[in-house]
Amino acid sequence: MMNVIEFFRNLPKKKCHNCGNVMYEKADCYGNLCDECDHPAR
Ligand SMILES: [Zn+2]
Repeated sequence: MMNVIEFFRNLPKKKCHNCGNVMYEKADCYGNLCDECDHPAR
């Protein structure tokens, strides 16, 4: 049986390509930018 939590835990941390911040959530939603860099007001 596959352990989903272990699967995600083993995924490499994704970093923002703009500022280098590590992104923990929404890794697949905003491409390679963190929330700060992807903020529409910036
Ligand atoms: Zn960023």
